[in-house]
Amino acid sequence: MSESREETVVLRLRAAGCVFAEDEARLLLQEVRTAAELDALVERRVAGEPLEHVLGWAEFSGLRIAVAAGVFVPRRRTEFLVEEAIALAGPRAVVVDLCCGSGALGVAVATAVDGVELHAADVDPAAVSCARGNVARVGGQAFEGDLYEALPPALRGRVDVLLANVPYVPSDAIALMPPEARLHEARVALDGGADGLDVARRVIEAAPAWLAPGGSLLFETSEDQASDAVETVTAAGLRGRVVADDERGATVVVGTRS
Ligand code: GLN
Repeated sequence: MSESREETVVLRLRAAGCVFAEDEARLLLQEVRTAAELDALVERRVAGEPLEHVLGWAEFSGLRIAVAAGVFVPRRRTEFLVEEAIALAGPRAVVVDLCCGSGALGVAVATAVDGVELHAADVDPAAVSCARGNVARVGGQAFEGDLYEALPPALRGRVDVLLANVPYVPSDAIALMPPEARLHEARVALDGGADGLDVARRVIEAAPAWLAPGGSLLFETSEDQASDAVETVTAAGLRGRVVADDERGATVVVGTRS
């Protein structure tokens, strides 16, 4: 497509407040064959949809992960959690991705580690249907249901790496999130209750029953939440620790079964 067409897109995106208008224009142009298709995508982006929803994919851990409209967009900072999980996962590890959204975390771990058996689950049917396609690429399965209730009971006591990108935004703070998240991602993927740790606590409580001996639970929190979260992990009988990457603003709590 011509320079001037790209330039027009850049100007439209910039006028709508897109900070990375040039990069976005380039990505949008790669998705389309016709001017009408391009126009439709630019319209959606200008109306405030997240770029990843408009493209239909997000970059995560060097992979292209399909992300359907309404599904939580995997955050680049969460690649830190994935790196920590990869360090803990041996070959043929049983990996569970709870609150999986698009399934990005599990797919990233299963791509990096040989022979992983991946099971993903989410309460939101739109997320599960999106995750199903993504995890199939690495031979995984996706289930719909409330946390562990979604999982095959045979996984109890067998999970080596339990990933849970739980929603952890305190309910009162949802209103302060950027409109892209607030208006275009499922609330159930963001809202963590009064202190943001409601879902994390439910995940922690049942984790010892699902983890294999030596297995680990990993979840992301805000910096402020980490000490409360690690206390809960310890109270549940797991060995807890916090790891952080300041550059990416990522805080991860790890709980390991003895
Ligand atoms: N503050 C985080 C974000 O928007 C919340 C993500 C989450 O709840 N998992 O990136």
